[in-house]
Amino acid sequence: MIYGALEAGGTKMVCAIGDENGKIVDQISIPTKTPDETMPKIIEYFKDKDIKALGIATFGPVDVHPESPTYGHILETPKTAWIGFDLLGCLKDALNVPAGIDTDVNGSLIGEATWGAAKDVSDAVYITIGTGVGGGIISGGKIVHGMLHPELGHMKMVRDSSDNYTGKCPFHGTCLEGLASGPAIEDRWGVSAKELVDRDEVWELESYYIAQAIANLIFIISPKKIILGGGVMHQEQLFPLIRKKVLDNLNGYFKLDELSDIDNYIIPASLNDDQGIMGAIKIAIDAV
Ligand code: ADP
Ligand code: ZN
Repeated sequence: MIYGALEAGGTKMVCAIGDENGKIVDQISIPTKTPDETMPKIIEYFKDKDIKALGIATFGPVDVHPESPTYGHILETPKTAWIGFDLLGCLKDALNVPAGIDTDVNGSLIGEATWGAAKDVSDAVYITIGTGVGGGIISGGKIVHGMLHPELGHMKMVRDSSDNYTGKCPFHGTCLEGLASGPAIEDRWGVSAKELVDRDEVWELESYYIAQAIANLIFIISPKKIILGGGVMHQEQLFPLIRKKVLDNLNGYFKLDELSDIDNYIIPASLNDDQGIMGAIKIAIDAV
């Protein structure tokens, strides 16, 4: 059985087909322009693939509530050409197959929870630190949506006393995304994150913010596993720094096995940057 998967991003649309084991059989990438330009290309790709269903993991905000009349529509977004666009309906109509949609970060979390590091974990968080910062939450075995969907990248941060950077988020300035996204790193230090590998102070500060956010999440939702992905997390030296600072933040409050084994508690994404598209395959499987 072949399923269609779309990972809709702000810069590119990844279209793939895969099987019930999450194996990706074929994949292409199409630049994200306007719906008029981009959608026909996506439809063209899936049209003759004989897919059984389609799963979509998309940039947001997006209506992810199946019972809502605007389920699958893109909501208010800086990508103005897409505001109000019925992404799910457009593809469902054109391809005439069952389809489901969730956010890009929930897609990655679903991928990890189905085939990766959060397999069989009932309570997990996935955080991506990339162009933006976002995250998905599984609580009691269910993806958390709530009134919209979590936007944990916009949680408020206590700034490090040495950090005078004003923050990159147009809404909140110094939220987590405003202080710790890839573009925030580049803006603060003047060169791209990749060129800062040897600058210890960069990763000390970066890990300070990520650890603070993770400690907040531990206090609020008590996850059993925390998975970190996205371009910035390719800097593997961040992991030990983050783990140590998380424990510093918790300051001995919890006496838990998970936290004693923190190397297996805060872990990198495990699916080779395919977690998003694999999650979309699972969304397709679930749509049947
Ligand atoms: P997106 O968030 O757009 O889906 P990524 O997760 O790759 O894509 O994030 C892109 C951001 O991550 C950019 O700001 C880039 O500078 C940063 N980035 C990408 N690769 C690395 C790396 N190896 N080390 C540090 N930062 C990186
Ligand atoms: Zn913000």
